Amino acid sequence: MKVTFLGTGTSQGVPVIACDCEVCQSLDYRDKRKRTSIHIQVDGKSIVFDTGPDFREQMLRERINHLDAVIYTHEHKDHTAGLDDVRSYNFKQDMDMPVYGRKPVLEQIKREFAYIFAVNKYPGIPKVELHEIENKPFQVEGIDIQPVDVLHYKLPVFGYRIKDFTYITDVNYIPDEEKEKIKGSKVLVLSALQKNSHLSHFNLEQAVAMVRELEIPQAYFIHMGHRMGLHRDIEEELPEGMELAYDGLQIEL
Ligand SMILES: [Zn+2]
Ligand SMILES: [Zn+2]
Ligand SMILES: [Zn+2]
Repeated sequence: MKVTFLGTGTSQGVPVIACDCEVCQSLDYRDKRKRTSIHIQVDGKSIVFDTGPDFREQMLRERINHLDAVIYTHEHKDHTAGLDDVRSYNFKQDMDMPVYGRKPVLEQIKREFAYIFAVNKYPGIPKVELHEIENKPFQVEGIDIQPVDVLHYKLPVFGYRIKDFTYITDVNYIPDEEKEKIKGSKVLVLSALQKNSHLSHFNLEQAVAMVRELEIPQAYFIHMGHRMGLHRDIEEELPEGMELAYDGLQIEL
């Protein structure tokens, strides 16, 4: 399995518009974070998790020329806004794009992209095939996927485990029974917004503690905001087996 970090930034991205802080002014490419999303290539299938506002640029940058499915974590705009651009794959592959999400996510997509579902459709709009998922294992193109049901303040969010890889973004609480689904993963990708505490996201200290509690040998943090600090400073502080991800990072497992 090959995992590509398409974006590792929080909802505003880094740099933040009109911010002149040290992180937003940094010239280090690792401090330039598009909105959070990952792509996985597994058993010959190409799957993306979320389609944020930077989806088009991310797919171009990584030259992802074929896409088999989109799986959503939750309905926040920084994870859904780019759905319109699946059109390119509709045209090239001559198929409707399979889209997976829990019921509230699909309901919100129907509201926010109402034109996609209109009775009389304008030509050239995206074509999607909605698949509602629940908190139980499902398959996408023959790939087994285990949802992990977590909370983002009060909003339920799905993380996902595929083989020994688990991906969880936008989380500040993981119930004990869901922790069991993560245990044994070789790699965990987990969101860590910043150093200060936050209403709806783990901060860095909480994310580090969660990786330790779950005894995951290798973890990558994502969904960072500009208040996290410079990539080069934070990476020095992290324990063995934990790293900040950055846009374009690829891992194989
Ligand atoms: Zn987010
Ligand atoms: Zn800033
Ligand atoms: Zn969110």
